Amino acid sequence: MAGAERGCSSLRAAGYVLVMVTNQPEIARGIQRPESLGEINRWLSERLWIHSVKVCPHDDQDECDCRKPKPGMILEAAEELRIDLRQSYLVGDRWRDVEAGRRAGCRTVLITGDGEETVEPTPDFTAASLAEASEWILGEVGR
Ligand SMILES: [Zn+2]
Repeated sequence: MAGAERGCSSLRAAGYVLVMVTNQPEIARGIQRPESLGEINRWLSERLWIHSVKVCPHDDQDECDCRKPKPGMILEAAEELRIDLRQSYLVGDRWRDVEAGRRAGCRTVLITGDGEETVEPTPDFTAASLAEASEWILGEVGR
């Protein structure tokens, strides 16, 4: 968590707008109440300087436009916040994240961890942590 805070704050300091896009099918499945998720998202926004949190509460069978790997949440945030996606990065730890970022026209970074170390499509960069991902985005490593 400390690495995530550092990574997010240095990106913020460099002028990046931070947006979280998250699939939460537990809501569609009735396992999680939307209110408790709102609490968690609020906490993350305050703690990690995230500008906007986009949540997809659907499951596969809902066929919505927002559930990653679809790029709906990214496109919506980009329009609302006037973000240039060609100069943006999607950082995630699942193939769904990388694919959604690619479809939205962003460069992509995969955070390895929970066994999802090889994914299709191939991300532009693979990092061990959010801190390392932010260093790469800021041009401090690997370029
Ligand atoms: Zn959705």
